[in-house]
Amino acid sequence: MTQPASAGPQPSAGQFPAGQFPAGQVSAGQPPAARPPAVRCDNLVHVYGTPGSEVAALRGVDLTVRPGEMVALLGPSGAGKTTLLWHLAGLLRPTAGRVEINGRRLTDLGTGALARFRLAEVGLLLQNPARNLLPYQSALGNLMFTQAPARRSASARRMRATELLDRVGLGGAAHRRAGRLSGGEQQRLAIAVALANDPGLLLADEPTTQLDPVSAAAVIELIRDANTSQGTTVVAVTHDPAVAGALGRTITIRDGRVGAEGLAGQEYVVVGRDGTLQLPAELTDLFPPGTLARAERHEHGVFLHQVDPPAPVTPAFARTRTLTCILTARLIRRARGRAGERARGPGPALRDRRPAAPD
Ligand code: ADP
Ligand code: MG
Repeated sequence: MTQPASAGPQPSAGQFPAGQFPAGQVSAGQPPAARPPAVRCDNLVHVYGTPGSEVAALRGVDLTVRPGEMVALLGPSGAGKTTLLWHLAGLLRPTAGRVEINGRRLTDLGTGALARFRLAEVGLLLQNPARNLLPYQSALGNLMFTQAPARRSASARRMRATELLDRVGLGGAAHRRAGRLSGGEQQRLAIAVALANDPGLLLADEPTTQLDPVSAAAVIELIRDANTSQGTTVVAVTHDPAVAGALGRTITIRDGRVGAEGLAGQEYVVVGRDGTLQLPAELTDLFPPGTLARAERHEHGVFLHQVDPPAPVTPAFARTRTLTCILTARLIRRARGRAGERARGPGPALRDRRPAAPD
C-alpha cells in the first residue's frame, strides 16, 4: 500500500520555524519557546588516534539546529562530516566540548540510556548502506525487525513496512535477502529502515550516492514527507545538489570547522567564537596560507587587504648580504686603525722622514 503524497501546498523544506509544526504533531502540547534546540554542539572537538599519531577531525564545531529544520552538511572529503554525524547519534564521545539533542547532553547518558535514546528518537543511515541492514533477512524482515520496539501491532508494522517498500520502489523485492540487493537497492531500503519508526531526528550520511535521479527524488520526497508530516528534524551529509537544495539550509564543514552556511540560496561565512572565519574556497587562491593581510573597519563592513610580505631571503641575496657585511666590517676596522694612528701621533718611521728642523 502506498501512502498518498501529502495533499495541498507544502511548506518549503526545512522552513518550519522552531517548534511550529502542524497541529497535533510532535510539538503539540508544548509552547514553542519552551523547546530546546533539536541539535546543539558547543565547541565540539574530536581527535582520533593515540598520542603521537592524532588526527584532529573536529576542531571546535558550534552548531544549532532547531526542531523541524532540515540541514545539509556539505564539505570536501575528510572535512569531518561523518565524525560530526556520529557525535549527533551518540556513537562517539567528544574529546572536548558538548553535544545536546533535544536539550539532553549525550555525555551524561550511560551506554544503556544512549542505546534507548537512539532507539526512541533517532533514525540513522550510515554511509555504507549495507551496515544498516541485516544481510540474511529479507527487505520486509529488516523493516519488521526495526519496528520491534515500536508500540504497534504486527499488522500495523507489516502495513508500514509494505508502504515504505512501495515508496522507495522495492515493492517487488520485499522477500529478497538484503545482502542480495544491489548497492542502490540497499541504500533505498536503509533509508526506509531509518524512517520506519517516525524518528524525531533523522541523521543520514550520503543517502543518495548510489541512486539514479529518479530513485534519489523518491528518497528526497520520503525525507521531506517525514519532515512535513512528523516534524522530523533532518541532518544529512551530502554531495548531491538535489538533496542540498531540498533541505534548505546548508552548513559547510572544512578542516573540522563550520566554515559557511547557506540560507535561501545565499552563502554566508560563519564567524567562529574566537573571531576566526574561513575564506570561501574560491578566494583562497588570493590569500594562500600564511598570507599577511590587513583587516580594516569600513562603514559597511571589513576590508581585507593583502599586504606585500618582506622580500624573501634567497640564498644569493643572503650571500651578497654576508659579503657586504664582511666588507663593511673591514672598512670600519681600517677607519678605526687610522683614527688610532692619528691619536698616537706619527710613528718612528714617519718621524725619521720629516725634514730636519732648521737650526
Ligand atoms: P568526511 O566524512 O568529511 O569525509 P570524516 O569525518 O570521515 O570526514 O574524517 C575526518 C578526518 O578524520 C579525516 O582526516 C579522516 O581520515 C579521519 N578519521 C576518520 N575516522 C577515523 C578513525 N577511525 N581513525 C583515525 N582517523 C579517522
Ligand atoms: Mg564521510
